[in-house]
Amino acid sequence: MEQSIAAGRLVVATQNAGKLREIRDILAGREFEVVSLAGLAPVDFPDEGGDYRENAVAKARAAALQLGVRALADDSGLEVEGLGGGPGAYSARYGGAHLDDAGRVQHLLDELGARPGASRRARFVCWAALVEPDGTTRSAFGECPGEILAAARGAGGFGYDPVFQPDGFEVSMAEVADAVKNEISHRARALHALLGPG
Ligand code: IMP
Repeated sequence: MEQSIAAGRLVVATQNAGKLREIRDILAGREFEVVSLAGLAPVDFPDEGGDYRENAVAKARAAALQLGVRALADDSGLEVEGLGGGPGAYSARYGGAHLDDAGRVQHLLDELGARPGASRRARFVCWAALVEPDGTTRSAFGECPGEILAAARGAGGFGYDPVFQPDGFEVSMAEVADAVKNEISHRARALHALLGPG
């Protein structure tokens, strides 16, 4: 049976403002005091080299053990069938470190455009990890299936949201209300699986 995690203070180990905002909103109905890294001692995060789960655990573990807090982290990405599952774990760096979100979206469209007939089926995936100050670790997975659109649409969300149309919708993830994204997203599903019934 699913076990709920005891309420209390929870530090979100991310530098990504979009993720932090979403995690706060997703956990809003729960009795956690959600705290960002801002204002806390700097954390020395390891390089991301593993799979999603390993990366999520490594980030949460670094914050939990270095700060002596309960820490939550996620590692997520976009997997596109016609790109062999890419960009996947490289989603944040796709096309080169110099690109911003809009540049990465354009790079994705260019790569798919260069492969006529390539499948545009896709899914967002997320592993979320929770690490206690004593190192006790839990993790959980969530996914959100959909399609890559022909062009970017909408201004909500972050990352690849403007070109991702979730299954069951006729609009992009950047066009749905924040509250809708936070019900159907890979991140919401992983967090609810991780934390148990709220
Ligand atoms: P990481 O988990 O920090 O390695 O980065 C995940 C990357 O995947 C982000 O920088 C985005 O490019 C992409 N990504 C993850 N979640 C989402 C999402 O909810 N919407 C759009 N893009 C996302």
